[in-house]
Amino acid sequence: MSTLITGIGRLVTNDPARDRGPLGELTDAAVLIDGEQVAWVGDAHAAPPADEAVDLDGAAVIPGFVDSHSHPVFAGERSEEFAARMAGQRYAAGGIMSTVTATRAASDDRLRATVSRIRAEMLDEGTTTFEAKTGYGLDVATEARLARIAAEFTDEVTFIGAHVVGPEWRDDPDGYVDLVRGDMLAACRPHVRWIDVFCEEGAFNVDQSLAVLEAGRRAGLGLRLHAAQLGPTSIIGDAVALGAASIDHCTFLSDADVDAMAGSQTVATLLPAAEFSTRQPYPSARRLLDAGATVAIATDCNPGSGFSNSMPFVIAIGVRDMHFTVEQAVWAATAGGANALQRTDVGHLGVGARADLTILDAPSYRHLAYRPGVQLVERVYSGGELIVDNRPCD
Ligand SMILES: [Zn+2]
Repeated sequence: MSTLITGIGRLVTNDPARDRGPLGELTDAAVLIDGEQVAWVGDAHAAPPADEAVDLDGAAVIPGFVDSHSHPVFAGERSEEFAARMAGQRYAAGGIMSTVTATRAASDDRLRATVSRIRAEMLDEGTTTFEAKTGYGLDVATEARLARIAAEFTDEVTFIGAHVVGPEWRDDPDGYVDLVRGDMLAACRPHVRWIDVFCEEGAFNVDQSLAVLEAGRRAGLGLRLHAAQLGPTSIIGDAVALGAASIDHCTFLSDADVDAMAGSQTVATLLPAAEFSTRQPYPSARRLLDAGATVAIATDCNPGSGFSNSMPFVIAIGVRDMHFTVEQAVWAATAGGANALQRTDVGHLGVGARADLTILDAPSYRHLAYRPGVQLVERVYSGGELIVDNRPCD
């Protein structure tokens, strides 16, 4: 079954070979979907025949968003903590524990229902690929359960047993790190592709964090890292040297940190919804981009430090407060996320890519930042299938 999407006013391909700016933008374009893949991209007038044709009448199309950082497997909610924070209380890493208690007590079906709802909301806002972390179990059995459930929804599952020290280990954090590197990692390994650690005061120090990453690497996992969210850190250079795919948050970076990332394959992933919701300073995308680093933008969707799963929302903040151009923010939310997950099949609409298309009820991708808070996602194709249709029915 082939479908020709035609009448695209402005198409973002993210295909550098097209020599149309960083977004590889085409006007009056068409995309041929064959099965799950993009089979042809080009001028609408030159489009090949297809089993069916869908005319978008000038709408903009971008690759489905790639949300490379989220924590969707949890129970409970923390709106009270958010309200207290907005009323003046400081954010600290320890609030995670209330989510841990609720998550441990929740049934598999309860957790599935939450992930399912978050995934549906993500799709509705144009996200077709998302990463999902564990980290609210903090014991072997629950972490393995969260990894297994996350894997029912995405291939990009990350084990973050080292989110904070498990409550039973408060007096023996090094003992907890040994558990994470040992039995907990072994129990989660069958369900996950990545390992992550929260390197921050109140969570794990640099030595503990590196020990966790090294254990993950020995187990064949890709490496991710939460760092420099609440203060400066000395881990960045070592994490880059270990081959981390992505370092996430990146607010308090030294010049040496920026240079280390710029000279490497490690992606800097910025998470503006977390700064928004914790009233922390925003990192500068401009500084990283000017240095030559690859930058992604993601939601960090989680019940504590930022409960938004909207990529359009983070694009709007990124442009307004982190000094991305609109173009750079859209690239970071699509190709940048794919880079952060080391995926070549998503985040672009070149021939052979997965046919993940987000169709906007707008003439240009620029409206994503220009019209913040407005639902502009009209239709979403995932793997060639129309799975979201927000058009009003008559
Ligand atoms: Zn996070």
